Amino acid sequence: MTRAINFSAGPAALPAEVLQQAAAEMLDWQGSGQSVMEMSHRGKEFMAIAAAAEADLRELMAIPANYKVLFLQGGASLQFEMIPMNLLAGKGSADFVNTGEWAKKAIKAVKHFGKANVVASAEDSNFNYAPKQDTWKLDPNAAYVHYTANETIGGVEFHWVPETGNVPLVCDMSSNILSKPVDVSKYGLIYAGAQKNIGPAGLTIVIIRDDLIGKGNPAPSAMLDYKTHADNDSMYNTPPTYGIYIAGLVFQWLKKQGGLAAIEQKNIAKARLLYDFLDQSAFFKNPVRKEDRSRMNIPFTLANAELDDEFLKGAKARGMVQLKGHRSVGGMRASIYNAMPIEGVQALIDYMKEFETQHGK
Ligand SMILES: *Cc1c(COP(=O)(O)O)cnc(C)c1O
Repeated sequence: MTRAINFSAGPAALPAEVLQQAAAEMLDWQGSGQSVMEMSHRGKEFMAIAAAAEADLRELMAIPANYKVLFLQGGASLQFEMIPMNLLAGKGSADFVNTGEWAKKAIKAVKHFGKANVVASAEDSNFNYAPKQDTWKLDPNAAYVHYTANETIGGVEFHWVPETGNVPLVCDMSSNILSKPVDVSKYGLIYAGAQKNIGPAGLTIVIIRDDLIGKGNPAPSAMLDYKTHADNDSMYNTPPTYGIYIAGLVFQWLKKQGGLAAIEQKNIAKARLLYDFLDQSAFFKNPVRKEDRSRMNIPFTLANAELDDEFLKGAKARGMVQLKGHRSVGGMRASIYNAMPIEGVQALIDYMKEFETQHGK
């Protein structure tokens, strides 16, 4: 068996150690005689798995006690709707920063519930930067301020946390959660689909400050109300049990790596390696403003787009998969989340060098 060097943007590669442990426990989780998939979510075995996953996530992210961690479903996309449903709270509008494809979807979803005020946008430059805070035209009466910490498609990442005063800060952290330490206390709500940097698709994590729970006006129906899930420890209905289990194994793996400060150093080193190569190349290029470049998703183009297919074919022959850029932007994209070792990035660069020598002038 050979494992591919997987540059998928999501669902993305998971640490091999995690998959090996899951495989070893597949038929019999710790002497229970059951697969985690077969367990009652209310039984003591699964309750212990879920409690450990939450405790490890709290430890990794240093989540303060006045925040709830919710294990939900529906992806980040359902959060685009649940957030305005629960947080607009009778106020007319929320402020949004438009940084690209995912921000646009979050903005669009608000229209069923209220108004999305775009207070800053990078559309003027094809979304290749993160608008600086001093350009944001924040409304002090907004219900909340929403931004996308990492634009998975455009490869633009905020390397700073916005200041929004008393207005709660809401963040789509789907593609860079757990890639570095963050000060959770600066946020009202953080959400992330699991399939980028946490675990399998199907699990969505919401970290929400206590005082923002139960404020929906009008109150959303039960399944769409954070209060329902908070009051029932994410067990109002059947949660995505296997996803929670795998996420828990990933949290343990991260702790063994030294936690988020240690994984951040690895992520910085991996990203620097690839950007340094791109910046000296006359053939490959990344369009994003340097200080806003993503450490997780690195889009790049070839000097001649007619060579894209050949590049992908050669990559595949070398065991490297999922390098094709998003259909909306073309070119290539290397997603290098926590589970991508630096050796994988180096293998890509070695291949790119070879390709440039063959095809560059
Ligand atoms: C993938 C992604 C989403 C959408 O996630 P789903 O789980 O497919 O709904 C939203 N925001 C960002 C930043 C993403 O990377």
